[in-house]
Amino acid sequence: PSPLGPTPKLVIDLERLQQLPKDKAGPLARYAATIQSQRGDYNGKVLSIRQEDLRSLAVIYDKSPTELTEELITWGVLDPEARRAVESF
Ligand code: C2E
Ligand code: C2E
Repeated sequence: PSPLGPTPKLVIDLERLQQLPKDKAGPLARYAATIQSQRGDYNGKVLSIRQEDLRSLAVIYDKSPTELTEELITWGVLDPEARRAVESF
């Protein structure tokens, strides 16, 4: 167990995501919309995703999970805490 506590969740800021240009955010926005639809969860301002899903998204964006995480933090879609969630990859 980490001295910093449990592995943080990957929490997508859906409002921030909507503000981003489509060419950047499009694939992530579609992925998030699919998860919302599968869960029947449409009202949240945030969406917790699976670690597995970040792996899939990294393939989609042709980046490593670490690189994609850094980009999503830069966009303001992920909290910097998310770095610790991908350390275990
Ligand atoms: P599933 O994977 O068979 O999960 C069935 C139900 O188990 C989910 O229904 C949810 O109530 C619960 N569950 C599974 N994993 C977790 C978890 O890590 N945390 C929590 N809190 N509950 C969990 P739900 O939410 O209605 O989702 C229905 C189906 O939609 C899921 O079936 C899965 O196939 C898909 N799905 C939902 N969310 C995600 C996601 O974030 N990523 C992926 N890849 N698929 C998802
Ligand atoms: P959480 O619900 O707090 O779950 C934390 C971790 O516990 C999950 O990390 C997963 O490793 C494990 N876990 C929880 N429920 C299940 C389950 O039913 N089956 C399995 N195989 N593992 C489970 P993970 O996968 O990275 O998910 C992170 C967060 O994403 C979850 O936190 C939850 O908030 C959300 N999530 C993931 N899948 C679903 C889903 O199918 N439905 C819903 N509603 N939320 C989900």
